[in-house]
Amino acid sequence: MGNQELITVVLILGGGVIMLFSIIGTQKILSIKTNGKYRSNWYVLIGLMVAFIGGYLLTAYLIVVGQSDWLGLIIGVVFFLGALFVLIVVHSGWLTMNQLSKNYFKQKESSRKLQVKNKELEQFAYITSHDLQEPLKNLEGLIQLVLLENKGQLDEETVKYFDLMNTSTLRMQSLIKNLLSFSKLDGKPRMEEVDLNAIVAELMEDLQLLIQSKNAEIICETMPAIKGNPQQIKQLFQNLISNAIKFKKPNEGVVVRISTQLKKGVCKIKVSDNGIGIEPESLQSIFKIFSRAHEGLGFEGTGIGLAHCKKIIESHGGKIWVQSTPGVGSDFKFHLPAI
Ligand code: ADP
Repeated sequence: MGNQELITVVLILGGGVIMLFSIIGTQKILSIKTNGKYRSNWYVLIGLMVAFIGGYLLTAYLIVVGQSDWLGLIIGVVFFLGALFVLIVVHSGWLTMNQLSKNYFKQKESSRKLQVKNKELEQFAYITSHDLQEPLKNLEGLIQLVLLENKGQLDEETVKYFDLMNTSTLRMQSLIKNLLSFSKLDGKPRMEEVDLNAIVAELMEDLQLLIQSKNAEIICETMPAIKGNPQQIKQLFQNLISNAIKFKKPNEGVVVRISTQLKKGVCKIKVSDNGIGIEPESLQSIFKIFSRAHEGLGFEGTGIGLAHCKKIIESHGGKIWVQSTPGVGSDFKFHLPAI
């Protein structure tokens, strides 16, 4: 066998090995769940690849033994199978692209409809909560007026009922206020460099009375700047800190620790407390609007705060979750984009 034949045999066998790898690759394609139409094409392709390998080996054998009589016919068959192979690949490609483009347009249309529906819903929540504020303010004013004008004339029971009415009105007002600011959170917020240290320092001033009255200690290490919307980031920290203070253990001071860690363009933040903690079955649901894990235990609230936090973080491209041990405390962890 001359040099030329040797090179030809090596090339043919190399082609055979590549074909073997292609068969393995096709198995991976078949493991993807597609419909029958596509699968049958790929099975035919595997069959053709096996035939190719057979043809290659036979050709190499005929060259090695120097029997060239059948060579022309076998090469012809391999060429024909090659053309058939390409045809089926093109057909499969066409079917796949066709399906993909159909799916793409379907998904685009559904996402557009979803966006419109979401906008309508947020608009509805905004208008409803905005308009509800007015009659409530009137009601609150009327209660105060009745109490003032009939001071000393109302019996104890009636005053108690008016007080209850007043408390309910105030609670509804706070619910509507929270709902209103929740529904205002829409689209992508305007982003800028936010100094987290300044935000927490401002909050310590705003929450001074609450912090003092609950004997709370806020321990905060120096934090990096992040990319975000300052108002929303402040709201986020305010909700988490005030929750940490609110859900405290009775007869125990509150310690809130805020720590951060920078990793690959992400600022990982942890707000930990030594409060009453959360039962495992509520760890996911508390981020849903109106969801409360300690209902009936006398903690004031509307169940909007954490849904608000989640919405803020998600609009910044981050995520939030909580780890907690009932009776020991909770760690609220979230990611925000670093500068
Ligand atoms: P709200 O505080 O108005 O009840 P949130 O949406 O802020 O509503 O919180 C939802 C629920 O998650 C709370 O009612 C409470 O049960 C639980 N929760 C939130 N923060 C804490 C915390 N730091 N410790 C224990 N439970 C918490």
